[in-house]
Amino acid sequence: MPDIKSYDVIILGAGPAGLTAAIYTSRGLLKTLVIEKLGSGGQAALTNEIENYPGFPEGVNGYELAQKMDEQAKKFGAEFEYGEIAGIVKDEAGFTVTASGNTYSARALIVATGVSPRKLGIEGEDKFIGNGISFCATCDAAFYKGKTAAIIGGGDSAIVEANFLTRFASKVYVIHRRNELRASKIVSDHAFKNNKIEFIWDTVVKGVAGDKKLEKLSLENVKTGALSELTVDGMFLYIGGIPNTDFLSGIGVALNSKGFILTGGNMNTNIPGVFAAGDIREKEFRQVITAAGDGALAAYGAENYLEELRR
Ligand code: NAP
Repeated sequence: MPDIKSYDVIILGAGPAGLTAAIYTSRGLLKTLVIEKLGSGGQAALTNEIENYPGFPEGVNGYELAQKMDEQAKKFGAEFEYGEIAGIVKDEAGFTVTASGNTYSARALIVATGVSPRKLGIEGEDKFIGNGISFCATCDAAFYKGKTAAIIGGGDSAIVEANFLTRFASKVYVIHRRNELRASKIVSDHAFKNNKIEFIWDTVVKGVAGDKKLEKLSLENVKTGALSELTVDGMFLYIGGIPNTDFLSGIGVALNSKGFILTGGNMNTNIPGVFAAGDIREKEFRQVITAAGDGALAAYGAENYLEELRR
């Protein structure tokens, strides 16, 4: 029998939603474990500048913000384990979670595992990931000093990062499959005024080529069918995210058709004792502040649930 560590709440994922939940549950004296695959902050930690998080009129670096949240959760006693979640079982103890060979149990779970970046799914893509294809301009922009890069996508992530990349690159192409951006107006207007950014509308990437590094993209105009090639030093993919819920299959948490978790007012799911917060849940407005708000609500929901169990 493996050694099982028991907690009141296990929080899966240490992005802004999970970290906020951990601040609230541990401050509420619930024995809290956070299990995270990589490092604290999730997608937000890969954002160079967050301009709309309250309290930071000059903007704040996503990594630094996440580190502060992490520190705050630890200050109140939240424990952290780093590893991949292998499975969850619902049992008499509540929920038993296995991660990287260790086993943990808790009466309540808060799922805040966010999304993983979507790939294009074209031939040759995997070969160039790390060799000219990146999912993080904040991490890799410095390699593009004086170089040319393409950003794929038309959402907030793509356009925010295109703007950021122009601090380094001499030219940034934004390649979008439609002829209007999904990104918010303020972010889009910033990019439209940026003379280092050139938009390539109604276009998708059909192929990638290069020797050891990515050198060329094959493009197709989806309206005219016209094919073309574009020489670039790199390509950044910002075409949305795939929800990280594989490990939930064993406990029957209800998802929508795109795989996002369905939640009620206190971030409760259809399974009593399981709550969800942040980008992983079905919602309209994905922001760091809404993820943090979800995390606080999920913690409140979990606290009430545990209180009910004690009665
Ligand atoms: P998103 O809003 O889902 O945008 C994804 C973009 O990729 C869309 O433009 C979409 O095109 C395109 N796309 C999707 N699949 C594609 C494919 N297979 N091939 C080519 N293009 C494809 O994702 P996101 O930009 O990562 O943003 C996620 C959430 O975080 C959003 O709610 C966003 O508002 C939020 N966010 C906010 C900020 C901010 O406020 N500063 C910053 C970053 C992210 P279509 O438009 O045609 O669907």
